[in-house]
Amino acid sequence: MGVAALVLGVACASTAQEAQRPSALTPAEIARLTELSEVAERVRLAYGAGCVARPCVPRLVVAEELQAVAVWDGPGFRIWLQRRALGPGVEPRPAVAHEMSHWLLGHTEQDCATKPFECEMAANAEAVQVLITGWALTREEAISLMYASLMAGLNRSQPLRGHDTPCREVAVFAQAFNRPLPACQ
Ligand SMILES: [Zn+2]
Repeated sequence: MGVAALVLGVACASTAQEAQRPSALTPAEIARLTELSEVAERVRLAYGAGCVARPCVPRLVVAEELQAVAVWDGPGFRIWLQRRALGPGVEPRPAVAHEMSHWLLGHTEQDCATKPFECEMAANAEAVQVLITGWALTREEAISLMYASLMAGLNRSQPLRGHDTPCREVAVFAQAFNRPLPACQ
């Protein structure tokens, strides 16, 4: 997979289109999904988050087609994953870390409906910590991964809801984490 796999595929629709149920996942896909669930549990333990209700951790559910690699479904308390995010050579970590950040920051449709940009910025920033905690990346690695993913998102022909100012989004992240500002400024 090339650049497309790096695009931070995130959207914050509360009702992800369920699309078609994926046909049975392959053992390799199941292994990757299990790995992501283990990461989520590791993050939960580190944050001490989400245990006022059961389940503590949002469910990871797979759909054949989604408008993004991963989608946070706050009211449904789950993270939708596009099936191709489980494919070999695909880099799902930035998108998944971003969606987990919505969970950890307690973002719901109600919270974010009036300030989607702020919610997205907060999730991008928190994703750095999630990558460090969940995947044992160094801070520099985590920042680079998020930055590359956001930069790749600039090539999207149709920005996602809540991410409709992708250039500003990268700029805010770049400024906060001391990376070069995008040329689209
Ligand atoms: Zn988001």
